[in-house]
Amino acid sequence: PATLSERFAAAFPRSRALFAQAARLFPNGVTHETRRLDPFPIYVSHARGPYKWAVDGQRLIDYFVGHGAHLLGHCPEPIVRAVQEQMARGTHPGACHELEIAWAQWVQKLIPSAERLRFTSSGTEATLLALRLARLHTGKAKFLRFQGHFHGWHDLVTPGADPPYEDLSVPGVPEAIAQLAVVVPPHDLNRVEDTLRRDEDIGAVILEPTGGHWGTVPIRGEFLRGLREICTRWQRVLIFDEVITGFRVSPGGAQGYYQVQPDLTTLAKILAGGLPGGCVAGRADILAWLEHRPGKKRIRHPGTYNANPLSAAAGITALQLIADGTPCQRANAAARRLRNRLNQLFAARQIPWIAYGDFSMVKILPHYHGPRPPEHHGDCDAFIPCQGDVQALDGPKDPRLISALRQAMLLHGVDWWGLGGMTSCQHSDEVIDATVEAFNRALDELP
Ligand code: PLP
Repeated sequence: PATLSERFAAAFPRSRALFAQAARLFPNGVTHETRRLDPFPIYVSHARGPYKWAVDGQRLIDYFVGHGAHLLGHCPEPIVRAVQEQMARGTHPGACHELEIAWAQWVQKLIPSAERLRFTSSGTEATLLALRLARLHTGKAKFLRFQGHFHGWHDLVTPGADPPYEDLSVPGVPEAIAQLAVVVPPHDLNRVEDTLRRDEDIGAVILEPTGGHWGTVPIRGEFLRGLREICTRWQRVLIFDEVITGFRVSPGGAQGYYQVQPDLTTLAKILAGGLPGGCVAGRADILAWLEHRPGKKRIRHPGTYNANPLSAAAGITALQLIADGTPCQRANAAARRLRNRLNQLFAARQIPWIAYGDFSMVKILPHYHGPRPPEHHGDCDAFIPCQGDVQALDGPKDPRLISALRQAMLLHGVDWWGLGGMTSCQHSDEVIDATVEAFNRALDELP
């Protein structure tokens, strides 16, 4: 019988041919790191609801969901219509426009800490701006961040995102810039306070509020409340990076779910309804550093596509649809069903894997020998594997296993994201059950 790789190559011949062209155009043949797959990635022609279609014809259940942007699934009719209507009116007036006001008002309605906003074109730009605002506001150059938390790819936030976290020598990032990030383990409030006490030059604390890499090492509400108290006591700027969690965890993001108010919030992905766009939102006195004020320093922040009207049209429509909480609840219920069913499958097969995660996010941990999670019914699963040991959860993974799992899942009709995935509100019970069946068959294929 042919090997898994050979059967994968035979099933996706057009993708393979396209990749041969791409390999001569792009480094590694891809335009985003996570789209790499050995021996080649699949190419997608179109997508709708919970599905995307490979150029080779297969319909695939999608767990990338636009890198988290499609809480509503692919191509929701109202968003397609809103963008088409705006397209006919112009893609970029190079001027103020009404949609940017309506868009910001929707953000403010759902996220009350957004006293003022500034739109950007991406989440990376949003964390860059938020950190610069915090620096000017506090007069302190450094910031504190947590091991394994991802905040985009600009120079300031690359150190500490991936193991080994202590290694601040990032190729291409000057050491003086890398040293501005003070990286500490998650879960340890005493360590945070000690670090602020010892290093007076730390002006901000930034984190993903459900845990690094969208909850790979989960965080709970008490930790967020503890950070809020510490930052208030030490007068440091608390930044929630809600690029993934914003409008996903709840209409008000993680801060709405846990009722903890940061000073600044970075948003992107769902914010722009599946189009490019981000923003920094938060305290008026901090965003005031973007304003022209006589005799005052300020941050210059241009940006050709800030508040692009197509993104605004999509974003307004998405936020309207999300406002009553139903899409978040549906996506959360789908992920909960998937986690529970996968754990039943792993138990039935007597293999040491677990599925865990919160809200609409699902993580898989192979080779796990700790306590098993009970079946759970809430959005926030109290279960944290390996006592939250960062190395165990976020440490080096077996790339051959991940690659084989992805290939096998694709052969059985599922585009699964390495060792995790996110759901949309379109992932019905039938879609989840088909995913579990695909997983069952994919496990038979693993070397
Ligand atoms: N912050 C978090 C938490 C993210 O997950 C991401 C992207 O995945 C970013 C920032 C960067 O956003 P973008 O890819 O829009 O630059």
